[in-house]
Amino acid sequence: MKLVSIELQGFKSFAKKTKIHFTDGITAIVGPNGSGKSNIIEAIRWVMGETSAKSMRSEKMTDVIFSGTDQRKAVNIAQVTLTLDNSDRFLPEDSDQLDISRRLKKDGQSDYYINNRQVRLKEIHNLFIDSGIGKESFSIIGQGQVDQILNSKPEDRRAIIEEAAGVLKYKNRKKEAEIKLEKTKDNLDRVQDILYEIE
Ligand code: ATP
Repeated sequence: MKLVSIELQGFKSFAKKTKIHFTDGITAIVGPNGSGKSNIIEAIRWVMGETSAKSMRSEKMTDVIFSGTDQRKAVNIAQVTLTLDNSDRFLPEDSDQLDISRRLKKDGQSDYYINNRQVRLKEIHNLFIDSGIGKESFSIIGQGQVDQILNSKPEDRRAIIEEAAGVLKYKNRKKEAEIKLEKTKDNLDRVQDILYEIE
């Protein structure tokens, strides 16, 4: 699995359509302070389903939409497409190339797409979970994050190790199953009450 390119439009400082190609080997993005280097990394996390505005250094998620400058007026939609080479089927999707897109409108609605097929956020999370490249994974390390990991509480550090070990998916499924079990127990209690009344 390889990162092929990222295309941004209306995302943070990237007002007009900008496509960045990642060739084999190491890609370094250089530029003066405030030129948008971190915005590119945030765009990668964003398209992978980041839901925390704070981690986008924003108050609310719609703040990621290009808000205009002296030269260019604000836009209404932010869109990012990440293209991945999946010919080794590293990600569980039967396609050689994956175009993962996210579009956010001013009203706050986010739409997600995998190869132009609209999907729910959960599908995006499931695609990356266990791959080590999810929005919370340590394959994307932002400024100050190393310090944050070193200074984090043992439970938080454990969560990072769990994601790396691939158990996070099962923990999430366990949580979902427990919620279902709880609901079923409530329903059974209600049935018992009704039966008691009838008898
Ligand atoms: P540094 O080297 O200082 O870390 P950087 O190259 O990583 O800088 P970023 O932090 O990615 O730069 O970009 C910050 C720039 O993005 C700022 O100029 C800020 O005004 C601009 N910016 C952020 N959000 C928006 C937005 N919604 N609309 C327009 N511009 C934005």
